[in-house]
Formats: sequence, structure tokens, C-alpha cells
Amino acid sequence: MAHTHQNDPHGFHRRGVLFVLSSPSGAGKSTIARKLLAAEPDLAVSVSVTTREPRPGEVNGVDYTFVSVDRFREMVSQHHFIEWAHVFKHRYGTPKGPVDAVLATGRDMLFDIDWQGAQQLHQTMGGDVVRVFILPPSMAELHRRLEGRQTDSPDVIAHRMARASNEVSHWDGYDYVLVNDDADKCFEAVHTILKAERLKRSRQTGLIGFIRGLMKRGDPTGES
Ligand code: 5GP
Repeated sequence: MAHTHQNDPHGFHRRGVLFVLSSPSGAGKSTIARKLLAAEPDLAVSVSVTTREPRPGEVNGVDYTFVSVDRFREMVSQHHFIEWAHVFKHRYGTPKGPVDAVLATGRDMLFDIDWQGAQQLHQTMGGDVVRVFILPPSMAELHRRLEGRQTDSPDVIAHRMARASNEVSHWDGYDYVLVNDDADKCFEAVHTILKAERLKRSRQTGLIGFIRGLMKRGDPTGES
């Protein structure tokens, strides 16, 4: 099925990109995602469903859809998710409906999901998926950032630190790997990846007619 969208850099139809950003928590992924969304207003965001409690300031239906474990189980049995996984003792899942809706219009979609989600999404959606992994500059810096954001208890921070090295070990399941030692530079790199991926030949489904036209007019001398 061809997923196409008019608004590509040259105005031709193309397939949408399912753009996955993963990182250990605290590596700066949400800042990068925010910058990307500001730069790319047409980029849709996948809002995951989770069984964890909302953090202060998080909005239901915007940051996550917060549900009970029972409701989550029900959603799994109703095939609501394109992928789901246990992360930090909680369940997280990507609703399938919005992914299909966005792809049907040929738009791109951003996913903030872990390595398990990236793997499952890639298995299901194949070449439409681009997986980007963001590394912290060091574990000490990661710890400093987790403490600095003051949203998690010391227990949770210790748990996240323990998980971080495990998450880093899955770096080889990604198409692109970046070290976030400078938020602006890292954002620029991520943005460049998205822009380049849009131009991949396999996504430029709408170019075929244009190229045929070029080939017809490609010999102005009429010699061949
Ligand atoms: P947090 O609780 O800090 O918001 O997220 C914890 C981890 O869960 C992050 O690494 C985030 O990328 C991951 N995550 C969030 N939503 C999903 C999802 O729908 N699926 C999967 N597999 N991971 C998710």
C-alpha cells in the first residue's frame, strides 16, 4: 500500500516516515522531540497508553493516555496496540489507529518508545520505520540530568540508572545512533536524518511520473 502525502520537499507524493526516537530516560530525548515538533508542524505524534501514574504537569491524552492495568489488558486483547511492552514495571503501548490514519495521508509520525517498541514496530511496519537512538554523553551526566529534572524519587532514579546501561546495550537495533552532548547540535542531526529519510528513493513514490517526463525530454539534441 502506498502511503502518500503532498507536502514533501518537492511537492510530490511520498510515503510517510514512522520516526522512532529512543534513549535512556534523561538523555535529552524529550527536548529533541519538542524542538523537532516546533520545526515540523506537520509531524504527527504518537500518544502512548500507559499504566504508570501521571507526573506533575502531564496531561492525559497529550503526554500519554493513562489507564488502569485492567483497561490496558482489555486493550491488548482487543488488538488496540501496534506494539506494547513492559518498561519500569509499567505497561506502555502504541495505539494502532492513529498510525494507520497518519500513514493513510502520507504524513510522518514521531514515536517516543523504547527499544522493545522500536523492534516490534520495525517488525510490523518494516521500511516505513526509521529508528534513532540517542545516547547520553556519560552515565554521570545522565544521573545529573535525572536528578535535575526533579520529577522522580531517588528510588525511581536509581532504577532508571540501573535500566540505562541495559537500554544502551540495545543500540545495535537502531538505524542511527547519536551522542547528545549538545542539545542544539543533536536536534540538528536528528532533523537532518528526518529530512534525508523523506528523500529516500523508496519513499518518493510520486516521482515516477515526473522522472518518466524527464526521460522523454532528456535528449534535446534528438541524437540518440
Ligand atoms: P516515561 O515513563 O519516562 O515517560 O517512559 C519510560 C520509557 O517508556 C521511555 O523509554 C519511553 O520511550 C518508553 N515508552 C513510552 N511509550 C511507549 C510505548 O508506547 N511503547 C514502548 N515500547 N515504550 C514506550
